[in-house]
Amino acid sequence: MALIEIKNLKKYYTTPRGLLHAVDDVTLDIEKGKTLGVVGESGCGKSTLGKTLIRMEDSTSGSIKFNGKEITGMSQREFKPVRTQMQMIFQDPYASLDPRMSVSQLIAEPIQTYHLAKDKKELDDMVGALMDEVGLARRLVNSYPHELDGGRRQRIGIARALSLNPEFIVCDEPVSALDVSIQAQILNLLMDLQAEKNLTYMFITHDMSVVKHISDDICVMYLGQVVEKANYQELFINPMHPYAQALLSAIPVPSIHSKKERIILKGEITSPIDPKPCCRFAARCPYATDQCRETEPELKPVTGNPSHFVKCHRAEELAAAQ
Ligand code: SF4
Repeated sequence: MALIEIKNLKKYYTTPRGLLHAVDDVTLDIEKGKTLGVVGESGCGKSTLGKTLIRMEDSTSGSIKFNGKEITGMSQREFKPVRTQMQMIFQDPYASLDPRMSVSQLIAEPIQTYHLAKDKKELDDMVGALMDEVGLARRLVNSYPHELDGGRRQRIGIARALSLNPEFIVCDEPVSALDVSIQAQILNLLMDLQAEKNLTYMFITHDMSVVKHISDDICVMYLGQVVEKANYQELFINPMHPYAQALLSAIPVPSIHSKKERIILKGEITSPIDPKPCCRFAARCPYATDQCRETEPELKPVTGNPSHFVKCHRAEELAAAQ
C-alpha cells in the first residue's frame, strides 16, 4: 500500500533569466514501511523534491497524497497534524542544529512546540527515551553540538525527527557529511528504526553505494525529472537509462581483476531554465539522435517488467544490442 502518492509534481522558481524547472512532472509512489532511494548529481532537484513533498516548499502544481489524503491544498491549520507525521533529517547536522541549545533542549524543542508532554518530568522521560533509541549516551544530555562528533550530531537530528512519532521521513543526504566509518553506523541505525517502527523513508543521496544498502526501490533523477525507477536489485543489475548506467559505473569495485570501466560523461549540462521539450540528457548522451534532440521521451514501463520505468527513446533498443 502506498503511503505517499505523487502525481505530476512540479516546482518552478522564477529567476531573472526565466523559469527554473527544479522538479518537473514527477510521478511516483512510496510504499508504507519501505525506502525509496532518490539519486542524481547535485542540482538535479532531489532535495527540492523532498522539501516540496513535505511542504517545506510550496509546489507549483501537481498532487501529493499522504495516507490517501491530498495535502497540497490544505491550509496551515489543516496541515499541522499531518506535518508531525512527515519529518526530515538534514545533510549537515551541525548547520541544522542551533549551537546555543544543549542536546536535551534540541530534542525537547519539537515536543514542546506540539505540546506533547504534560509536564517537565514527562518531557525529560521522552528526551531520555529518544536518546536511548538513537544510541546517544545520557551523559551527553547537557552537551552542546560543538562538543560532539558528526555522528552524534546526526543522532540528535534523527532523535528530533523521531520525537513527533512520524510515519514518513525524508532523509536528505544524512550520511554524506560524515566519515566513512560513521556512515555505516548511521545507516544501520536508520534501518533498525525502520524495522522497529515501520517507518517509510525517502532517502536522497548522490552516492550509489550508499543507496544500495538502504533502498527497496530507487529512482534516478536528472535535471528535475525521474529518468529511471525500479526495484534496487533490478536497477543495479539492469540499468537501462544511459545516465543511470554512467552513475553505476562510478561505484568502485574492490577487485583488481574487475574489467568494469567507468563511463565518463562529456558535454555540457543542459540549463534547467525554460528547458526545450527534448531529452534533457541529450547533450551528454553518447547515443543521442535527432529524435532525442527534438522530442521528450516518456517515462514508460520496460517491456516484460511493469515495475521498471525508463525515460529514454532508445532504452530497449540499446539493451537488446548489448
Ligand atoms: Fe540518450 Fe536519447 Fe535516451 Fe536521451 S532519449 S538518454 S539522448 S538515447
